[in-house]
Amino acid sequence: MTQNFDIAVFHGDGIGPEIMAPTVQILKRMAAASDAYALSFTDAPAGAAHYAQTGVSLPDTSMQIARSSDAILLSAMGLPDVRYDDGTEISPQIDLRKALTLFAGVRPVTVREGQGTPLRLPPGREIDFVLIRESTEGLFHTQGCGEVSKDEARETLLITRDISEKLFRFAFDLAQTRKNAGRGIGKVTCVDKANVFRAFAFFREMFDAEAANHPDIVADHAYVDATALWMVQKPWDFDVLVTENMFGDILSDLGAGLMGGLGLAPSADIGLDHAVFQPCHGSAPDIAGQGVANPFAMILSAAMMLDWLGVKHDNDAIRADGTRLRKAVEAVVARGDVLTRDLGGGHDTNDAAGAVLDALFAV
Ligand code: ATP
Repeated sequence: MTQNFDIAVFHGDGIGPEIMAPTVQILKRMAAASDAYALSFTDAPAGAAHYAQTGVSLPDTSMQIARSSDAILLSAMGLPDVRYDDGTEISPQIDLRKALTLFAGVRPVTVREGQGTPLRLPPGREIDFVLIRESTEGLFHTQGCGEVSKDEARETLLITRDISEKLFRFAFDLAQTRKNAGRGIGKVTCVDKANVFRAFAFFREMFDAEAANHPDIVADHAYVDATALWMVQKPWDFDVLVTENMFGDILSDLGAGLMGGLGLAPSADIGLDHAVFQPCHGSAPDIAGQGVANPFAMILSAAMMLDWLGVKHDNDAIRADGTRLRKAVEAVVARGDVLTRDLGGGHDTNDAAGAVLDALFAV
């Protein structure tokens, strides 16, 4: 039986439309070759350029398309010169995260053989772990409304039982899925600062309670400062890391650094009912319009989407295609002959995306 999935597509700003177009094309080709699933795509206008034209950054109609979709693909959004009247950046992706309660920010950190990394990895070593950043509360709770007087400034860190329980359940389920797929050893590390802050002792207590429901998965703890050190010294030891919003914000950029930059860093923001898949990088206005942007982080985000849809809807074929798509990008990167400028090559966006298509459908 063919399962149909509706995908909301936010093309975004800057290089956004340039990397989204070939990504959708690849997904269409993969779906056309499968009789187990079909994909339909609906464009959802939003972003800084849309705001400049219409005065609205995320129209209700686009929000509705997102809400009623099975998954949301989003490229980069925001432009440095287009701001709200109060000077803040246009970021509909953050509005979506809040409106759809996407509490789990999933940031895979992978370094395969042949991939550029500032680390000197022992021969045969690869990095493959996932950082989960809580994305709706923590130290971002008072974002934009912290109290500032002449002599003092205050922000509030919020940890709730409701979100933490969902977050930890998600983390353990992900570790189990990775273990079943032979991708991880089945370990979740709670990254906190429970030795100093009561809020993090509370966070850890809820982590331990969820761990008790998953006897097959190892539950570990680490302080955030030590985690930063170990991400550099022995990143291959990690499987799934789960942490608070601000800690995750910082560690996920460290993770992108380990991967050799933002060009290969995909991400997902996942809730109970909805999920947004987008590259970690921004709209790169400095190279927009030239057709030279690296599409790999966007394509890898689309691979995560296929994987998530497969797990959620119990569809092995779409899951397998998610793995196939990820491996196709990894193969192109390992070969190294069709890379964009940011990865040290001289090829354009369409060449790089075309190489992925060739790797997928080579006869
Ligand atoms: P934001 O604040 O919106 O996340 P940023 O300030 O982190 O954005 P990016 O837009 O991510 O900045 O760009 C940072 C640098 O990386 C720029 O020089 C940009 O050209 C480059 N860059 C980002 N994404 C890509 C890509 N997909 N391909 C090539 N270069 C990229």
